[in-house]
Amino acid sequence: MSYVLALDQGTTSSRALLFDSSGRRVALAQRQIQASYPRPGWVEQDPLELWSSQLATAREVLEQAGLRAGDVAAIGITNQRETAVLWERSSGRPVGPAIVWQDRRTAERCSELQRRGLEPAISLATGLVLDPYFSATKLQWILDQQPQLRSRAERGELAFGTVDSWLIYQLCGEHVTDPSNACRTLLYSLEQGEWDGDLLELFGIPRALLPRLVASSGLIGQTRPEWFGRPIAVTGVAGDQQAATFGQLCLKAGMAKATYGTGCFVLLHTGQRPLRSQHRLLSTTAWVLGDQPAEFALEGSVFAAGALIDWLRDGLGMIAQAEQVEKLAAGCADSGGVYLVPALNGLGAPHWDPRARGLLIGLTRGSGKAEIARAALEGIAFQVADVLTAMEADGGQLAELRVDGGASKNDLLMQLQADIAGIPVLRPKETETTALGAALLAGLATGIWKGSELSGIWSEERAFLPSWSEDERQHRRTQWRRALERSREWAERE
Ligand code: ADP
Repeated sequence: MSYVLALDQGTTSSRALLFDSSGRRVALAQRQIQASYPRPGWVEQDPLELWSSQLATAREVLEQAGLRAGDVAAIGITNQRETAVLWERSSGRPVGPAIVWQDRRTAERCSELQRRGLEPAISLATGLVLDPYFSATKLQWILDQQPQLRSRAERGELAFGTVDSWLIYQLCGEHVTDPSNACRTLLYSLEQGEWDGDLLELFGIPRALLPRLVASSGLIGQTRPEWFGRPIAVTGVAGDQQAATFGQLCLKAGMAKATYGTGCFVLLHTGQRPLRSQHRLLSTTAWVLGDQPAEFALEGSVFAAGALIDWLRDGLGMIAQAEQVEKLAAGCADSGGVYLVPALNGLGAPHWDPRARGLLIGLTRGSGKAEIARAALEGIAFQVADVLTAMEADGGQLAELRVDGGASKNDLLMQLQADIAGIPVLRPKETETTALGAALLAGLATGIWKGSELSGIWSEERAFLPSWSEDERQHRRTQWRRALERSREWAERE
């Protein structure tokens, strides 16, 4: 029996999971990681903690399963995306903290570029919108703050990378990244599949800083013998959302997945050409398998999904635990005309309104906790349905939605999602799809799985079928849109 080790470096934890050659998970180890918030809107992490916690979980999971390095055929890596790390090539030491994807310190820089009318050209090249979220302005900020770092960068002494790149440098000594991560930097041309010289110039980034591009599935490097006693091949790497899409086996155009965590990330596979969104969705590289052409996806993110349930629990004290929301919401047959727009920190795709704020509307003397809880679940599902509608309007054709993430365990939420979106919602047996995706990318490159066998690894735990009439669905979505309009541009500033 051979095993694949998946390393999943997320925003709040580092995890390591072992999968056997049937795709079954056999062990999992996890460590929390810290973030610091030195000023309003700033979010930093310690790159050495990202690495040491990841190495520790990898060793732990092997010990737990009673396996040695020789039993592991390959390692796959998946990671929080966009977070920027800068380090010294000779020593491998970071030159400062990692600037995390959530960090907003470059909002003013992005607005300035928007005012100069540069966003359309940048979007065309990258498939992204101009936002502090992506890595380029974070890296530029570091180099602007410390001019000596820019000179060292120009002399080739420093290396930049997203978290995948940083971990692989520590593990194997290779400075590489894959297209699913590169395409989130604002420095990568989606069509060309390479770093974009014009964008490097625009953001003032020396080319000598950038990692070499490698396929998401293919030989990337060998781990240094000191980490696991002997080398293990690293043969898979992808950003977390793309890895989850692979782990859900959404391998063909038209297949889509939604991950319901704190926020909700929806990705639709669009085939071998990037589909340009007319509805403010992101166009992104899904993965590159070996020497095959790149595959692409449309992506839409909803800011508050599980976060809304956390608010019902911690902000309102309506429930003691997240899962209790289901029973509470099931206490009424419908929300009685109550709508909850979960714009707690603005609205994401496809509305993109940083000044929108949460709204509870349609209350009557008969509205109680049950109606509000149900309106909360519906509010999550309406937002995801809006993303799916935008994907369809952009030319995507969806037959079903595959789901995962903490809140996908909620049966009522999943049924409401099917009813509101009007498509079947399928929940797999294996919900650790991000790690599974990284493992599958790695195992595909080493021949543990053949491409033709992959789809058989996905199996359904439960299907939720739409039950509302088309009239009812249209009526409810119209009411939702009216509520949403009233939540927009409420705050005076972002
Ligand atoms: P993340 O990776 O973003 O930390 P997870 O996938 O671990 O998120 O999911 C955690 C989120 O899911 C929390 O916001 C939590 O409130 C929510 N959640 C967990 N279980 C349920 C449930 N049964 N119903 C609704 N929301 C839930």
